[in-house]
Amino acid sequence: MSARFCPHCGSALHERVPPGDSRPRLVCTGCGHVHYLNPKVVVGAVAVNDGRVVLIKRGIEPQKGKWGLPAGYLELGETLEAGAARETLEETGLEIAISRLLNLYTRVEAGVINVLYLADVIGGNPTPASHETLEVGQFLPDEIPWDELAFPSHRWALEEWLGNR
Ligand SMILES: [Zn+2]
Repeated sequence: MSARFCPHCGSALHERVPPGDSRPRLVCTGCGHVHYLNPKVVVGAVAVNDGRVVLIKRGIEPQKGKWGLPAGYLELGETLEAGAARETLEETGLEIAISRLLNLYTRVEAGVINVLYLADVIGGNPTPASHETLEVGQFLPDEIPWDELAFPSHRWALEEWLGNR
């Protein structure tokens, strides 16, 4: 899960508290580089198509077979909005226009920050675009498979979408 070798000099990383710091870090035994581990940013969308929200049935772990919002890791050099649109297109085949930020959620246990946008579907065809997606579904509010959702943050976002409509 975490790196064992220094990305700069290749020496082993050892866990210790650096001088002046307050918590253990991975510190290089060769050059002294501190390898900080921080949360990653996951971007996604509550994409709405004629009153229906677009969900994907996940084809990969974690939570394979469960339903989730189209979402994935933000790339370097990419804006949050562009990342949300890219992930939605990759996973569902649908083009979206983002209307606003829905909310941010910290998932401490997963080490990620979810940034979820509200968006309208403006084009494309619902298609499971890769092995990461088994099925693309579009659900009216009373059809949402609440018991089969993959992630709590996706549930929170859907609840906010419904509460904010
Ligand atoms: Zn090093």
